[in-house]
Amino acid sequence: MISYKELGLVNTKEMFAKAVKGGYAIPAFNFNTMEQMQAIVQAAVETKSPVIMQVSKGARNYANGTILRNLAKGAVEYAKELGCENPEIVLHLDHGDSFEICKECIDNGFSSVMIDGSHLPYEENVALAKKVVEYAHQYDVTVEAELGVLAGVEDEVCAAESHYTKPEEVIDFATRTGCDSLAISIGTSHGAHKFTPEQCTLVNGVLVPPPLAFDILAEIEAKLPGFPIVLHGSSSVPQEEVETINQYGGALKAAIGIPEDQLRQASKSAVCKINIDSDSRLAMTAAVRKYLAENPSHFDPRQYLKPARDNMKKMYIHKIVNVLGSDNKLG
Ligand SMILES: [Zn+2]
Repeated sequence: MISYKELGLVNTKEMFAKAVKGGYAIPAFNFNTMEQMQAIVQAAVETKSPVIMQVSKGARNYANGTILRNLAKGAVEYAKELGCENPEIVLHLDHGDSFEICKECIDNGFSSVMIDGSHLPYEENVALAKKVVEYAHQYDVTVEAELGVLAGVEDEVCAAESHYTKPEEVIDFATRTGCDSLAISIGTSHGAHKFTPEQCTLVNGVLVPPPLAFDILAEIEAKLPGFPIVLHGSSSVPQEEVETINQYGGALKAAIGIPEDQLRQASKSAVCKINIDSDSRLAMTAAVRKYLAENPSHFDPRQYLKPARDNMKKMYIHKIVNVLGSDNKLG
């Protein structure tokens, strides 16, 4: 058993309580590589922000769970080396789909896990989440559960249709499972293609997707005052990155995300964790494509991964400062 406490990580309990009170959200950035980890830590240290580094099943398959855990351990030490005395870094399992995978992560240094039973019938979702919570809480590990289904594709999570969270279920669900935070579905979705152009309205030449269901969010908040709410699938798909990718040989069609002003609005509510994955992928790919197109004779990965890392860091800082408002919230 490796406790996250030995690794210098923290769980989400205190940081969520402060975020809900303070009207901001903690960034939850997915990571699969050392460069993403470095960019996340540099951005968090420079902005003095708490941060959640999350690992999906796809990340574990790609990079190996042991390596990712040690990268997260390295992240804490790296943050200290960069001058942050008491970094607040969470290592979180994104979309755990079984008790076993959650237990394995808890036993191996994760400070927070998500159990995603949202695709199951209600009672089965409750039972599974409760089982994970009972195990996790013995070790002070926090648990995120999900009600409602997000559409889209993210690693191995895939659903054709979304189902908004039913506000009438949230009290029963939170009480019976004992979960520490609740992921809800109010119109965000996974991946870089969240909306088709047909679903959007054209405003000043820009495709604007339908707004998030803030009425449902308000109903949920009224039922569970102060309870930490999580938004998945909240990349904004910056069009300049999509254009760079396409300009340098890519073929991304009509990639549309969640407008940042809506995420800013959500951050001010009980939404205290916002998941961003696709934007980091886009930032990395745009920089790599541009660099390789402009420097066709270069072949040292360090040459093209450095601008990729810098571009991701710039994006993370922008999210922290201008969208989520988690800057200067350490301590
Ligand atoms: Zn997700």
